[in-house]
Amino acid sequence: MYQRKVCQHCEAFFKGRRNKIYCSANCRKRHSEPVQNSLNSREKKNSNMRLIDSASRIAELYFTRPPFERLGMMKGYIALAKQGNGKMREILSNEYLLDRKNNYGNPFKGKRGKSFGSLAQACEEYCRHYWKASAREVVYNIAPDPDDGVID
Ligand SMILES: [Zn+2]
Repeated sequence: MYQRKVCQHCEAFFKGRRNKIYCSANCRKRHSEPVQNSLNSREKKNSNMRLIDSASRIAELYFTRPPFERLGMMKGYIALAKQGNGKMREILSNEYLLDRKNNYGNPFKGKRGKSFGSLAQACEEYCRHYWKASAREVVYNIAPDPDDGVID
C-alpha cells in the first residue's frame, strides 16, 4: 500500500501512497509556486537595470553637448531605433524612462541645475515638435515621416 518515494520538491525519501508525489503539504505548495516567473522577473529586473544604465550614459553624452549639436544626435538615435535597434527603441521610448516622476535614465539626478531628465523625455519633446507624434510612435515606425522636410 505504502511505497518508499522521493519527494518531487525536496527530494527527501518518504513513505506514501502511490499517487503521493510530495513528502508534505508544504512541499506540494512550494512546488506549485511559479519558480519560472520569479526567475523571469529577476532577469527582467537585471535587464531593466542595464537599460537604465545605458540610457543614462547616452543621455550624459547628449546633454553635455551644445543644444545645436543635440538635434543631429537625436536624429541619429531616432534613425537607429527606426531601423529596428531594440535597445535604442527602449532607450528612447521606455515608459519608465519617459516618466518624469522618477530619475531613471537621468545622468544628472540630484545635481542642482541639471534637471534635464532622460533621453526618452528629450526624445518625446523632439518627436512632439518635429513629428507631431509620440516617441513610441516614431521609433516603432507607427508615425508617418513628416513630409515638410523639417527633419532633413
Ligand atoms: Zn518534500
